[in-house]
Amino acid sequence: MPEKQTFKQTLQMKRNYMGRACKLHFESAPLKIVQASRQYMYDDTGNEYLDCIGNISHVGHCHPHVTRAGQDQLGTLVASTGFLNEKSVEYAKRMIETLPEKLCVCFMVNSGSEANDLAVRLCRSYTGHHDVMVIDHAFHGNVSVIADLSPFKWQKLGMEKKDWVHVVPFPDTYRGKYREDSINPGLLYANEARNIIQSAHEKKRKIAAFLCEPMMVTAGVVEYPPHFLSQTFRAVHEAGGLCIIDEVNTGLGRTGDHFWAFQSQDVVPDILVVGKPLGNGFPMAMVITSKEIADNLSDYTNTFGGNPVACSIGLAVLDVIQNEKLQSSAKSVGKCFKDGLKAIAPNHPMIGDVRGRGMIVGIEIVTDKESRKPAPEAADLLAYKLKENKIIIANEGQDKNVMLITPPLCFTCDNARHVVQAIDSALAEIEKGASEAGLNQSSFGENRMDIPLNILSMPSTSGYSSEESDFDSEHPSKRARYEEVD
Ligand code: PMP
Repeated sequence: MPEKQTFKQTLQMKRNYMGRACKLHFESAPLKIVQASRQYMYDDTGNEYLDCIGNISHVGHCHPHVTRAGQDQLGTLVASTGFLNEKSVEYAKRMIETLPEKLCVCFMVNSGSEANDLAVRLCRSYTGHHDVMVIDHAFHGNVSVIADLSPFKWQKLGMEKKDWVHVVPFPDTYRGKYREDSINPGLLYANEARNIIQSAHEKKRKIAAFLCEPMMVTAGVVEYPPHFLSQTFRAVHEAGGLCIIDEVNTGLGRTGDHFWAFQSQDVVPDILVVGKPLGNGFPMAMVITSKEIADNLSDYTNTFGGNPVACSIGLAVLDVIQNEKLQSSAKSVGKCFKDGLKAIAPNHPMIGDVRGRGMIVGIEIVTDKESRKPAPEAADLLAYKLKENKIIIANEGQDKNVMLITPPLCFTCDNARHVVQAIDSALAEIEKGASEAGLNQSSFGENRMDIPLNILSMPSTSGYSSEESDFDSEHPSKRARYEEVD
């Protein structure tokens, strides 16, 4: 079906009627995506893009089995929760069957933020303590309490650390306080956590929860050094707190070796949080814990959480993961990706590190391998160049210099090889541009203004020329208008 609005109209209306804070991918040249299937997305002019960041479409965009399950249920019963429903109990049972015995009761909610918020509430009510410990640079969501527990966003949002929040140093052996050449960096970082708990106690504060991902994804695809998590969990438990694992990015087989990423870490959380992949794009999330912890909460209602449509979709997603062997595919395609990237890394002074697990892959873009200095401008440029090659990728991490690859799990080895090849040539161009301009690679990331614009310039158009401004963009009330698209 043809689109009702031109690209420009849609962009203008976005600027007129939607919050400025709601950013788009490729802000200076956004895409209008109108359709998607499997690992591909299609824009309004029919271009096909390979989606390397569509992790919410866990089993593939618009998978027919999932779509049908949602449509059928939508035409049968949509009820707010509060009635007995076969789909929701069956879904709860199927999820719990994937977990260790201790994690046997679930609460169904609508987003990862909401799930983390409930998890923290459960910890507070069970322990009688109030404070929460998180890892530096972590992101866990955007409801108020959880934003307070997301150092990743503090600087951007002008927030300050609350006194009930305690922050463990980022356990990054590439650029962190203890690196790969330290003896047992995992224990060294865990000791830092232990000291933080100790100093909280000295201030008469008590830890209710330690909230962490099983590996840090948005913060830059950082896997913890061995023993960090198990020893930190031990310290938290000794202090009377509980441990929450946030698998919003990592759950449901994405990391390949296991269905849940925590299973590779020699720990079992007291509370597990999962979100994004559950509904293949449909908003769903879940908190799973022990009966003892769950029963501590005497009343909980959630209008939409666990509604029959969500649960039908959730069941269909589990079917597809199993039927299409997507966990083992995540493992083999992830290996293909990492092997390919590691093979090209020696030719690229700006590839500092390649890391990840299964279909969560990160590439550190640095000014040079020696200094390991983040190069966010080059990472930005790489993302735009790949977009020109019809590949959608993001640069993430605290310094925005880590290329993040988290595609739908139907991604293939051929797709991976294609992306590696495209990164190889795009990065070579960026590196060549920098050296031809007589720039020391290390100028990248220092001061954008020092770098000739023809090297750094992003594609300057938003997909149309300014002469096309035939759209009457005025909002009826004229109050909601932001700047005009030009
Ligand atoms: N936890 C983690 C680790 C996340 O990355 C995110 C969002 N990307 C959230 C929680 C929040 O999930 P949601 O956007 O569904 O609220």
